[in-house]
Amino acid sequence: MDLQNFFSDPYLNREIRPPPLNRRVLPEPTPSRCHFCYACGSCLTACPVNLATNRLQPRKLVMMANFGLIEELVRLPEIWYCLSCNRCNNACPMTVKPAALVAHLRLEAVRQSLVKKDILSDIQELQRQLHRLRAHVAAAMLSGRDPVLSSDWRGMAELPIEYCSKDLTPTEIPADARSIRKACSTYLGYPTNLSECFTCSECRNACPVCHEPSVFDPMWMLRMMNLGFAADLLASPMMWLCIDCETCTHACMQRVRVHLVIRRIQQIALQENYVSSAFVRSWKQAQKIVYSRFIEEIDRLLSFPAVSSTNSEPTFCSKQIQSCVPAVEENSTSRVLWGG
Ligand code: SF4
Ligand code: SF4
Ligand code: SF4
Ligand code: SF4
Repeated sequence: MDLQNFFSDPYLNREIRPPPLNRRVLPEPTPSRCHFCYACGSCLTACPVNLATNRLQPRKLVMMANFGLIEELVRLPEIWYCLSCNRCNNACPMTVKPAALVAHLRLEAVRQSLVKKDILSDIQELQRQLHRLRAHVAAAMLSGRDPVLSSDWRGMAELPIEYCSKDLTPTEIPADARSIRKACSTYLGYPTNLSECFTCSECRNACPVCHEPSVFDPMWMLRMMNLGFAADLLASPMMWLCIDCETCTHACMQRVRVHLVIRRIQQIALQENYVSSAFVRSWKQAQKIVYSRFIEEIDRLLSFPAVSSTNSEPTFCSKQIQSCVPAVEENSTSRVLWGG
C-alpha cells in the first residue's frame, strides 16, 4: 500500500502526519474492534455515502485508528458525513464496526470542543432534510418531471411531500391480498417471514432513513403488502429511499427480513413495469448529486472549505429521465404478476 497517498487528505488538501509523540491509540472501551481489520475494503463498497460521493471511506478511518491517529481522526470532516446506518458493520467479514468508531470520534470531537455542542442535533436535522430531498427527487423522476435542485437546500427539503397525501388507511382488504403476501414471502429463494409482522414499529424506530414516517416508513410498507395494497405502494417512490442497510432486519424480534421484503417490492415494481431498469440507473446517478449536496451542507455547517465534486447548481437531463419512466396505467393492479 502506498502510505504516502494514504495519509494525504484529498479533501482538505493537507497532510495528515502527526508528531509521533502525540499519537494515541483508541481507548479500550470503544466497541469498534478496529484491530481485527485486514483492509479488505468491504465496508468501503457498502457505504452508501462513499458509493455516491467517494467522500467517506470507513476503511481509511479504521486504519487510521489502528495507526493511533486519533487526534487527526477527530478533526476529519468525514466523520460528520456518516449516516450511522451500520451498513459497513454488517458488511465487515471481521466484525469490525466502523460505525461505532465514527460515533466514538464524534463524541470525542464534542468533548474536546472541536465542534459546537449541538452539532449532533444539527447533523440529525441535515439527515432528515437529505431524505426529504431524496424523496422529492424520486417522486419527480417517477412522475416524469425534471428534478432540478436549486441552491436553497432547506427550501427544497421543506417542500411538502406529495406522494403520501393520499389516505391509505385500509377500509377494504383487496381480494388478491393473499397472493400479494405470497409473492413477497421470498426473495431469491430466501424466506422473508413477511406474514410474521405484528406492526410493533421496531424496524421503523431503528431505520436510519426513517426520520419522518410520512417520507419513509418500512413498517408502513410491510403493512401495505400484508394487507394487499400493492398498487399504492408500487407506484410510490418510498421503496427507492431504502439504503439496504439491514438495520431493520436486525431490530425485528419476529425475524422478519425487512430489507429483503423491500428488495422484493423493488423487484416487483421492475417486473410489473412501474419503473424501468433505466429509472434505477438514473436514480443512482441522481443520488450522487443529492449526497454531494448533503456533504456540502455539512462542510458549510462545520465551516470546512467546501470541496464540490459536482456543479453547485446541478440539473438533471429531463429527456433522459422521462424516457426511462414508463407511464403507469390506470388499472395497474390487473398487470400484477400474482394475478389476483
Ligand atoms: S455507518 Fe453507514 S454511512 Fe456511516 S460509514 Fe458506515 S456505511 Fe457509511
Ligand atoms: S470491511 Fe472490515 S476488515 Fe474489511 S476494510 Fe472494512 S473494517 Fe477492515
Ligand atoms: S420490527 Fe418486525 S414485527 Fe415489528 S413492525 Fe417491523 S417487521 Fe413488523
Ligand atoms: S428499511 Fe431497513 S434496510 Fe432500508 S434503510 Fe431502513 S433500516 Fe435500512
